[in-house]
Amino acid sequence: MADIEAASTDVNLWVQQFSDSLASGNIVNVCEMFAEHGAWRDVLALTWTIKTFENRGGIAAMLESTLRSTLPHDFAVEAEPGACEGWLLFKTQQGSCKGYVRLDGSGKALTVFTALQDLEEHQTKTGKQRPTGLYDDLDEGTWLDRKQAEQNSLGTDSQPYVLIVGGGQGGLALGARLKVQGVPTLIVDRHAKSGDEWRSRYNSLTLHDPVWYDHMPYVPFPDNWPIYTPKDKLGDFLEAYAMIMELNIWNSTEFVSAAHDENSGEWDVIVERDGKAIHLHPAHVVMAVGNAGFPRKPNFTGKDIFQGDQVHSSEYTSGEGRQGQQVVVIGANNSAHDICADLVENGAKPVMIQRSSTLVLKGETNSKMARALYSEEAVEQGLTTERADFLNASLPLRMAEHAQKEAWAQIAISDAEFYQKLADAGFQLDFGEDGTGLFMKYLRTASGYYIDVGASEMVADGRIGLRSQVEIEQLTENGVLLSDGEELPADMIVFATGFGSMEEWVKRLISLSVAEKIGPCWGYGSGAAGDPGPWEGELRNMWKPTAQDGLWFHGGNLQQSRFYSHYLALQLKARYENVEFAVYDSN
Ligand SMILES: Cc1cc2nc3c(=O)[nH]c(=O)nc-3n(C[C@H](O)[C@H](O)[C@H](O)COP(=O)(O)OP(=O)(O)OC[C@H]3O[C@@H](n4cnc5c(N)ncnc54)[C@H](O)[C@@H]3O)c2cc1C
Repeated sequence: MADIEAASTDVNLWVQQFSDSLASGNIVNVCEMFAEHGAWRDVLALTWTIKTFENRGGIAAMLESTLRSTLPHDFAVEAEPGACEGWLLFKTQQGSCKGYVRLDGSGKALTVFTALQDLEEHQTKTGKQRPTGLYDDLDEGTWLDRKQAEQNSLGTDSQPYVLIVGGGQGGLALGARLKVQGVPTLIVDRHAKSGDEWRSRYNSLTLHDPVWYDHMPYVPFPDNWPIYTPKDKLGDFLEAYAMIMELNIWNSTEFVSAAHDENSGEWDVIVERDGKAIHLHPAHVVMAVGNAGFPRKPNFTGKDIFQGDQVHSSEYTSGEGRQGQQVVVIGANNSAHDICADLVENGAKPVMIQRSSTLVLKGETNSKMARALYSEEAVEQGLTTERADFLNASLPLRMAEHAQKEAWAQIAISDAEFYQKLADAGFQLDFGEDGTGLFMKYLRTASGYYIDVGASEMVADGRIGLRSQVEIEQLTENGVLLSDGEELPADMIVFATGFGSMEEWVKRLISLSVAEKIGPCWGYGSGAAGDPGPWEGELRNMWKPTAQDGLWFHGGNLQQSRFYSHYLALQLKARYENVEFAVYDSN
């Protein structure tokens, strides 16, 4: 064992001792190398699932169970001498892994992040492993012949190993990863063309996150791409992406039901294509159906007597032709703001109905917060998207909560004038019920916020009317009656009231019993409203094995979709290739 000073804060030395202790199976020693509240987040490297261990007891139990089957070895560090944090490379029985370690002032690990990168026996055919593209004796026909043969046979003469339900950005990113991994995969989507989900959204929509955060795997956006992508431009990019990555997609195809056969380990899936029911028998079904599938539309009294138009935000396209009209927009989050702004720009008079408080973040502050990892400056400093994603993932959620709370306390000060203007207009604001801000709200419930790209100014100066802390009592013939007795006239009512949950899809498309077995998707058990405990410390059921064999969930924003599609694809590839591994189960 290396001769190490107990209080050394050099990550190079720490890793050497860590590696020696793991090699000799000295779990006690490994645990003592962690700070009392230090945490180890693992993505597949040892656990073959996604899990964070927040104390020495949890780390010890995990190592007791996983060390023998994974045998981590060949550690190397990428860090300046004396640095207290740095990158880690190592191997396990199954593959090559990467990590990131942060030490505290006493030389103990505050955070360790480890993640499987590639399978040893089945390396990803990219970079140095890329195919030659030249004919060889095994090839039958040209590239085009082979591509067409694969497309024609998959789902008819041959079965996909993986069926991805939903060809939005999530389904396409995962499809691309699996294509590169050589896993037979079919994507089904009810839209006629890839990218249509984005195209179908309201006309004024642009991405709220900057371009550096949004790249798709393998094919980044070109250098002249705008910072905020208009939704139809993203739709076109996704359509091109599906073609470039040679994805097998059945468009205009609806996934209608699925039942799992425990004996064969296969699914019996029914999809409707060209009016015909087709049975498919994949080993794995990935639900990449998004969380914007089931519009949540309250069932107000009077909905049948209101004479104007009623649409859910997902059906709203534009305020064109609404000049001079009164529009009541129910809700005060992202879509409500975007739609109100669009109505103002089209000469209409929107009134936003805010039932409870909303977290608002200035767009430029959002970009500033992301700047260290995702920006032109970060790129110039050599921080690739891949490394930025890895660093982003390396902070366990409990620590992220603390960091976010501090950041939001600062934002409250730096953007005080902005918030005061909104408050003066009667807008109810929050920073999350425990002050942890937007990112944690997103991970908890994916709702309750607006990233300001212009509508807040309109709320503040009254161009967007506002009624706050009121409920809709009922709809009337000519408008809405509010709980405070006011009747608002309306030519149109827009329900910006959100969407149903991912588990709702399972109930509707698979079965109630499978939905109950799996439990909720998303949320990490923070205990905040909408995300009840127990504390999980990871998003529930996302990108990792679920309680239902062969059923997986994929989705989230573009960054999550890009990052986690890699790990979901590796899990499916390992199963496809019959790699030996064990999923760690802490129960
Ligand atoms: C208005 C709005 C603005 C957003 N802005 C941003 C943003 O700025 N940045 C960001 O990163 N995220 C944003 N999001 C959130 C999120 O990234 C998007 O919702 C994104 O589209 C999610 O991608 P996805 O592939 O998981 O799901 P989706 O894009 O919703 O794709 C799901 C696909 O599944 C298909 N499908 C559903 N059911 C079936 C079925 N039974 N059979 C066959 N196909 C089916 C649908 O046709 C659809 O194509 C926004 C969301 C909304 C609603």
